Amino acid sequence: MPHTAMSDANPASMYASAKKIYPREIGGRFANLSKLATIVLLGLFYLVPWLTWDDRQAFLFDLPARKFYLMGLTLWPQDFPYLALLLIIAALSLFFFTALAGRLWCGFACPQTVWTEAFIWMEQFTEGTRSQRMKLDKAPWSWNKLRRKGSKQLLWVTFSLWTGFTFVGFFTPIRELGAEFVSFSVGGWTLFWSLFYGFATYGNAGYMREQVCKYMCPYARFQSAMFDKDTLIISYDEKRGEPRGRRKRSVDPKQAGLGDCIDCTLCVQVCPTGIDIRKGLQYECIACAACIDACDSVMDKMNYPRGLVRYTTEHAMQSKQTHVFRPRMMVYAVLLMVLIGSLVTSMAQRTPIILDIIRDRNTLYRELPGDVIENSYTIKLINQSNDARLFRISVSGVEGIWLDGIEDTIRVDGGGVVSLPVRVRAQRNNAYGIMKIDFLAEAMDETGDKRKEDSRFLGPTP
Ligand code: SF4
Ligand code: SF4
Repeated sequence: MPHTAMSDANPASMYASAKKIYPREIGGRFANLSKLATIVLLGLFYLVPWLTWDDRQAFLFDLPARKFYLMGLTLWPQDFPYLALLLIIAALSLFFFTALAGRLWCGFACPQTVWTEAFIWMEQFTEGTRSQRMKLDKAPWSWNKLRRKGSKQLLWVTFSLWTGFTFVGFFTPIRELGAEFVSFSVGGWTLFWSLFYGFATYGNAGYMREQVCKYMCPYARFQSAMFDKDTLIISYDEKRGEPRGRRKRSVDPKQAGLGDCIDCTLCVQVCPTGIDIRKGLQYECIACAACIDACDSVMDKMNYPRGLVRYTTEHAMQSKQTHVFRPRMMVYAVLLMVLIGSLVTSMAQRTPIILDIIRDRNTLYRELPGDVIENSYTIKLINQSNDARLFRISVSGVEGIWLDGIEDTIRVDGGGVVSLPVRVRAQRNNAYGIMKIDFLAEAMDETGDKRKEDSRFLGPTP
């Protein structure tokens, strides 16, 4: 029987637990950009639910009422196409920017990146620098360790709970929610979702961190399919850097037969996913650009030109021309423009009235004295605006047709729905067989908003 290394191996050795990563803090252009993005995005998340618009929450996704409030705009289930269009635009924008500039989203705007960054700030604040954190983890439990770890946990848990509360505040009016929490009268499901989201934040940003990007995020898996040789990537200039080697600042690398990489591993120490960019493009790289800042700082100290690790393209690395305007980009750009144009136009032309006509299916038609034919309907009138409005309903399509059992003016509250049972009548000699009729709802204000809906009027067969 052939002897193999596997047959000697302990099966338990097939498993290797993930090593904890201690990213080193680094300053620089991209670190500043990342800080700015984190502050702006987190600021928006925590601030937006507290904004008010016309005496109500400016941004509220009221799922039980099936209404989305976006400042002055109220979206109803009937507006679902707008939401679908918006999601398509978001997906296409992601494709466009990924093909153009690589994983910009991952490095600077993804919630996982942004919250992890905030959690690392709290970690640095309570436990110190990278080497201090590593030392603290190795040290036996002491009052100092307990105090530092305890204060980190206190910050993390408070921040996570506030995040859970804020998240639920996008779906439940946040001021009422706050009052419920303060008075301990919060509902079971609301409490569950607040804690669940808080716990997810704590686990993902506090402990899972790069594991989410490596193993859980589907985008990390398929984004390479959007890359081509002209996509902006973060790359180590192997031609310039190799052969790598340590040397004194006074040594001329050319004379020593060395490249510009001094093998200081600073680019590895700052990497939040723990990879070595010098091994080439790897799917774990979230393009945070920390290694660029790290390497630039080393190049500055060595008096070498910056950019050993830099934003570049595969074509540029091969000394070929980089093409920004390539067919794929043009297709994405045109599609995006068409979709954004359609969304803006349809939103601008959106009439805040919905008119639904439901024909009474129990009776075909009724014959009344005086040779009159009558059909019954239920009119559903929805006022999608935020103010109460007066409407007038009329019907047309058959000569002499008229509405019975309906007020001249119908008041519908802002965001309200009114259901009206109505009878539509016409003279027998004008109404026979199946005839198409139109209902018209007109706002009785200066806007002149109108909504037309057709239906069928039934009469005796001619
Ligand atoms: S390799 Fe560089 S850009 Fe990629 S994740 Fe690591 S530090 Fe960020
Ligand atoms: S930071 Fe720059 S010089 Fe240092 S190991 Fe990385 S690539 Fe080489």
